[in-house]
Amino acid sequence: MSPDVIVIGAGAIGTSIAYQLAKAGATVMVFERGHVGDEATGASAGMIQINPDRSTPPPLSSLERESARLFPALATELLDRTGMDIGYRAAPLLHVALEEGEESRLRAHRAWQVDHGMTVAWLDGPAVLDLEPTLNPTIRAALYYPDDHQLLPLSFAQALTRAAVDLGAVLREGANIDRLLTDGDRVVGVAIGGDAVHAGEVVIANGAWASSWSEALHTPIPVRPVRGQMVALRTTGTGLRNVVSSADGYLLSKPDGSTYVGTTVEEAGYDSRPTASGIAGLLALVPRLVPRLADATFIDAWAGLRPGTSDGLPLLGRLPGWNGVTLAAGHFRDGILLAPITGELLADLLARRRPRLPLEAFDPGRFLVRAA
Ligand SMILES: Cc1cc2nc3c(=O)[nH]c(=O)nc-3n(C[C@H](O)[C@H](O)[C@H](O)COP(=O)(O)OP(=O)(O)OC[C@H]3O[C@@H](n4cnc5c(N)ncnc54)[C@H](O)[C@@H]3O)c2cc1C
Repeated sequence: MSPDVIVIGAGAIGTSIAYQLAKAGATVMVFERGHVGDEATGASAGMIQINPDRSTPPPLSSLERESARLFPALATELLDRTGMDIGYRAAPLLHVALEEGEESRLRAHRAWQVDHGMTVAWLDGPAVLDLEPTLNPTIRAALYYPDDHQLLPLSFAQALTRAAVDLGAVLREGANIDRLLTDGDRVVGVAIGGDAVHAGEVVIANGAWASSWSEALHTPIPVRPVRGQMVALRTTGTGLRNVVSSADGYLLSKPDGSTYVGTTVEEAGYDSRPTASGIAGLLALVPRLVPRLADATFIDAWAGLRPGTSDGLPLLGRLPGWNGVTLAAGHFRDGILLAPITGELLADLLARRRPRLPLEAFDPGRFLVRAA
């Protein structure tokens, strides 16, 4: 059977697209070379934060806001359809200042955010400790974002997959797509091993590996891997009530009792190993933020490759000069947050409906225009 749509990659982005397409009645096949959520998605912290600053491009903050708005209903919908709890819950953020310079930076940041209608409060040191008593008492002040959330990213991708499969989508794991099949200016399917699978449309959603199709499509797909390392700790005491972040990284407690320490932002090519220096840097942050956690048990460390782009915006839309192929990649540090809106926008695009948000800023053709 030839499906209407083939999706390459089963991270948060590919699974969200598959779910929305299946819900809209399309026949969908998802090809994943490993398992669902194996790469950046499974490595991520699962924070759903919308805290733009003056450097955030406005189209990206609109996309973030719209996606964040979709989560409560989507979490309920996935629970109803699959019985799977994606762990979506409130996770207010305390962004703390440990030094004077950081304190004035946060003040300026807050002024900009208030001007832009965001819910953010300034807390001085004692007020920060009231909210999060185990924090380092030398913390000078913090910005408090009460509306942020978190979820379990792997459960999220798995629930999206289950819901899509229940609606008739086919998932093939352990299925590395070797090649795109083309006929003139049309992508007509994919090659996997010696097999060809044809489809009306192919969606490229393979995260940091999306650039691997550039050559075959004679089109720049400038998505690059940006490594992020993470450590998990376990304590016997209760976890943190808030996500605690600083200029050097963050701590967040998960429902299973672990506390994540993240993260690095490194240009290391496709090397997805956690390293001694990366982990040492993260562990050094722990006692500076929460002295009590210096005694926590080290349980795990890992790294993932975020799909980064040169202008910080994802690539969403049709590839110039081609029919039958659409790109959804380059979500960098926001791919969990942006998965719901990406799924809906791609379903709109493939059904040739007017997308609910303007997509010009995310046009994959923008790099061609610049190159010309
Ligand atoms: C440490 C860390 C922390 C993060 N924290 C957050 C956070 O708190 N909130 C947030 O919103 N984002 C966060 N991110 C970013 C987020 O994880 C990514 O933006 C998001 O997971 C990207 O999803 P994706 O589906 O595009 O890519 P991926 O999850 O990498 O999925 C791509 C999939 O494609 C598959 N694939 C690749 N090539 C092929 C092929 N040829 N054939 C078949 N399959 C293929 C891969 O195996 C992979 O499973 C974090 C990332 C990291 C690394």
